[in-house]
Amino acid sequence: MAKYSQLWKTYEAVNKFDMKSEIRKCDVLVVGAGAAGIGAAVGAARQGAHVLVIEKYGFPGGLATAGLVGMICGLYQRGGDNARYISNGFAKEFAERLTALPEIFPCKLLEGLWVLPYDLADFGQVANTVVCQEKTIEPVYHGVVAGVNTEAEHVSNVHTLVWNRNITFEPTSVVDCTGEATVIALAGGATVKNTIDQNPAILFDMTGATTNLCKQSDRLAVMRKIVNAVEQKRLPEICRGISFVPTVRGGQYVRLKLPLKFNEARHWNSLSHLETETRLMANTLSRFFVEGVPMFKHARLRLASQVGIRAGRRAVGKSTLTEKDVLECRKYDDTAARNAWPIEIWSDGGSPEIKHLPEGDYYDIPMGCLISENLENMYMAGRCLSATDEAIASARVISAALDTGYAAGAAAAKSG
Ligand SMILES: Cc1cc2nc3c(=O)[nH]c(=O)nc-3n(C[C@H](O)[C@H](O)[C@H](O)COP(=O)(O)OP(=O)(O)OC[C@H]3O[C@@H](n4cnc5c(N)ncnc54)[C@H](O)[C@@H]3O)c2cc1C
Repeated sequence: MAKYSQLWKTYEAVNKFDMKSEIRKCDVLVVGAGAAGIGAAVGAARQGAHVLVIEKYGFPGGLATAGLVGMICGLYQRGGDNARYISNGFAKEFAERLTALPEIFPCKLLEGLWVLPYDLADFGQVANTVVCQEKTIEPVYHGVVAGVNTEAEHVSNVHTLVWNRNITFEPTSVVDCTGEATVIALAGGATVKNTIDQNPAILFDMTGATTNLCKQSDRLAVMRKIVNAVEQKRLPEICRGISFVPTVRGGQYVRLKLPLKFNEARHWNSLSHLETETRLMANTLSRFFVEGVPMFKHARLRLASQVGIRAGRRAVGKSTLTEKDVLECRKYDDTAARNAWPIEIWSDGGSPEIKHLPEGDYYDIPMGCLISENLENMYMAGRCLSATDEAIASARVISAALDTGYAAGAAAAKSG
């Protein structure tokens, strides 16, 4: 007890003299500047709102940049000889800014799926430009939300450490774009956990190789070497699941995706353990490429800043998107976003189980999936919108995150 009160006194002293909380007011507080948060900030600003966007990294993009994801899925219809947009909103506007840059254009993968490969730096620059062009958006980088107060199901203030200062925000409405529904959970709002296996992955580049592995025969030859090394126990078993990701500006780097295993429930700090072990494994892999594959003799490893978590905690909304909505291509009058990406379940191994939508068709994500069921001034978008485990396995792609973000931000601004 004595120890506790001593600690408390110390905390009070620090709070009083150095860390007194400063109050900041705004119309819309967006938490997270990933694809959804960028959309939300722009959507709210275009309704005339004063918007603050809090992001724990020092740059925008979330998984799309820090996760080295590298291609926008969900923008286009499946099938056809040309990429035809499904999004007619903010995701399309964002994609058009990317395709205006040199050597960025859609490419067709297996089963008629079209994607837009992008360079990481270009995504970050476009995101920064669209945010800066809206005069009423103020990005708050190096800010982490760690506490929320509510009064009668209304979020009244949000506690944040911004760099080294203690800031309390008093917003009229909030858009949770954390990917993990963190703000909603802290506010005591309704959330659900993902229960089906959706293994994470780490993306990494080998830069400076003398190949871009654009020929299938080269990719197969490298895969055979990887499988051999696994069988001879020179690489861990999980490396069998490595896959190649299409890149832009071919020839400068080869991008690979390594599937991982993660059990968040095992330990409170599981994600740090996964980051540490993954980085050790990436070193082994990089050595294998440099020493064992002649085309990679002078190549260097460039690893994503974070492992990619596909699905985590989500909000419960006024409506919930279901697998049936996705596969039967349901349309709604109050649509927030359109999407045509298939359901991808990434359980064990390197390739997902895929359930496709009919060629040329799409489904709607209704507005109700972006409005908290029980917090009256709370909205959500992107990876943590209201959906079943199967439905989010389609709706989480970057295109839908940009569009649902925009719709949630606009709705949050109008409600204030
Ligand atoms: C391995 C992998 C591969 C993928 N491949 C593709 C692909 O090829 N194409 C595609 O379209 N999609 C892909 N996806 C899915 C897609 O990248 C994500 O679902 C999408 O980018 C999610 O965007 P978001 O804004 O909802 O969330 P995130 O990108 O996760 O953004 C959340 C942001 O919130 C911030 N944040 C979180 N908590 C706090 C807090 N408390 N305080 C402050 N800030 C906070 C985070 O730092 C982050 O920037 C992939 C995902 C993974 C994991």
